[in-house]
Amino acid sequence: MNIIELADISKTYYMGAMALPVLHDISLTIEAGEFVVIMGHSGSGKSTLLHLLGLLDKPTGGTYHLSGRDISGLADDDLAVLRNHFIGYVFQQFNLLPRMSAKENVALPKIYVADKISTVTADEIALLARVGLADRVMHKPNELSGGQQQRVAIARALVNHPLLIFADEPTGNLDSKSTAEIIKILQELNKSGITIIMVTHEPDLAGAASRIIKLQDGAIISDTKTTPTDANTRAKTDTGTITHPNAVSVLNIHRVKDYFVQALRALMSNKTRSILSILGVLIGVSSLIAMMALGTGAQEQVKKSISSLGSNLLMVRAGSHSHGGVSMESGAVTRFTPQDAEEIRERIAGIERVGAYVSGRGQALANGKNCNTMIEGTTADYPLIRNAVPAQGRFFTSQEVTTRAKVAVLGMTVVKNLFGAETPLGQYIKIKRIDFKVIGVYKEKGSSGWRDEDDKISVPLNTAMYRLLGKEYIDSMDVQVAQADRMDEISDQIRNLLTTLHRLPLSQRDTIDVRNMADIQEAISSTTKAFSYLLGSIAFISLLVGGIGIMNIMLVSVSERTREIGLRKAIGANNKDILFQFMIESVVICTLGGVIGILFGAGISVLLAKLAGWSTQVSLFSVLLAFGFSVMIGLVFGIWPARKAAQLNPIDALRYE
Ligand code: ADP
Ligand code: MG
Repeated sequence: MNIIELADISKTYYMGAMALPVLHDISLTIEAGEFVVIMGHSGSGKSTLLHLLGLLDKPTGGTYHLSGRDISGLADDDLAVLRNHFIGYVFQQFNLLPRMSAKENVALPKIYVADKISTVTADEIALLARVGLADRVMHKPNELSGGQQQRVAIARALVNHPLLIFADEPTGNLDSKSTAEIIKILQELNKSGITIIMVTHEPDLAGAASRIIKLQDGAIISDTKTTPTDANTRAKTDTGTITHPNAVSVLNIHRVKDYFVQALRALMSNKTRSILSILGVLIGVSSLIAMMALGTGAQEQVKKSISSLGSNLLMVRAGSHSHGGVSMESGAVTRFTPQDAEEIRERIAGIERVGAYVSGRGQALANGKNCNTMIEGTTADYPLIRNAVPAQGRFFTSQEVTTRAKVAVLGMTVVKNLFGAETPLGQYIKIKRIDFKVIGVYKEKGSSGWRDEDDKISVPLNTAMYRLLGKEYIDSMDVQVAQADRMDEISDQIRNLLTTLHRLPLSQRDTIDVRNMADIQEAISSTTKAFSYLLGSIAFISLLVGGIGIMNIMLVSVSERTREIGLRKAIGANNKDILFQFMIESVVICTLGGVIGILFGAGISVLLAKLAGWSTQVSLFSVLLAFGFSVMIGLVFGIWPARKAAQLNPIDALRYE
């Protein structure tokens, strides 16, 4: 039976526009069970012919029947299956993977066994024993001699029980003793039924063969059978036939598992590089997490202070005007009295409450302790307007405002400073040497930025004005409007009324400062939003830079491992195998960086909250976003190098230097 039939095969290499014909019209049949040696001068085309025979390269013209089937129509993936199942290779350079033990190198072709064609694979340890390396199973290639390495390579070629072995100058790098051993092994393999085709330029070795083919300038010049193929060998050969694959599926569980093992191994073997690229992603992800936590925290803070302000609020302050470009202090035009607040409430429709407000600083004393704090004088409806009902006790009444009662409501900071853990309700404190009874305590608000909102004492408006601060005028008024959509209209009415009441010239009407608190808060909140977008995009850029770093490293890794890719393809890996292997490698890097980065980023935001006192909040969204991004970066930036690796022609990759 003819296992190989070549008819008019030619091969031309193209170097740019230049055509370099290397093989011319080669016709050749090889029977199963033969041991063929191809000889010829260097450059005569021996390796080129062997690569065509071994399905590592494609001819420019002519037909090739392997075991009766024309292989010119087969897809790359199907060729890979044929190489994996039926062909073994032995190269001059051994081509073992340097970071794997002898045993792992031998087992490599098993990974790429396609499940639709059943192949009984051999045990790699038994094979190593068969080539005389039983005691070198765990040795790495650099711990073996040249002859031993070549024997490992032969064991690898045998692991899937091939019908054909192609050997290109297998002894070219070996001393004469090792050469003899290798040739003996090949002869034994031939006796066991394997067809062997070997290229050599050493005439001494030709004696091992049953047939010698001589090449010169790309053409066969002689073809002699020295000994007829052993009848015994032929009988054994007939039991094995080549089953041609039909669209074999390449993805299965044990391959995917192997991609991960390979990826981890590649990462482990280049620890520094892996750590650096993980670091790139880690920094990007953790800054994304921390920055988003900061942004979300700031926004939450603003939301809280908006809701604590109460709704539909206008803040009215006495006008200031600018005089010759110099802006005068508030109150330079006119000043307001509690009476103005009354007038506004009575004369303007659609107003729910009007509060009047003064403030100043003063010394408070109790239990022999003292503190300097803010003293606020307000009307009785302040808690309702400002959403600040005391958590303990009560607020003062309008009655107490009118009678200038000496009662006080304290903020938590003041309570802590003067009373510690004691309850202050019902006790007396001295403010500016006047005794006040504590009737209430505010709920703790927490600091907002520069100011501690809990560091204050509220007393009735009149008490503050006439007893404590000595003010005849109020600082501001809070107007609570019934309907939000009438805020602008009512602002106008307030200005008009105050202008009339204070007999201001019309030109100074607009100096009366009426502010819509909701607008102010909205402005602040949109500022914080812009701020958090800014933080987010900075973090995103750093993530992108990390991704580019990954791509760079993957590109290096691909070009560094081009020969490995060539070897994997030669022993049966198809394009997808290579693509997945490299993509999984970069996804593993990015995922590791992502997970550690998330933990790190969360840690940073907790530290920011604890040490700097900033409010931060790590949201689930930011965690998912960061994780998703890091995996995506792995995919996106891994695809290009991985594709580059996958598309390499096996023989080009093997020859890469
Ligand atoms: P040998 O008989 O020494 O094994 P080869 O088959 O390797 O010879 O090479 C035959 C000729 O083809 C040489 O002249 C070589 O320069 C050329 N050649 C081999 N591979 C390539 C290639 N990939 N591109 C261009 N020329 C090539
Ligand atoms: Mg050669």
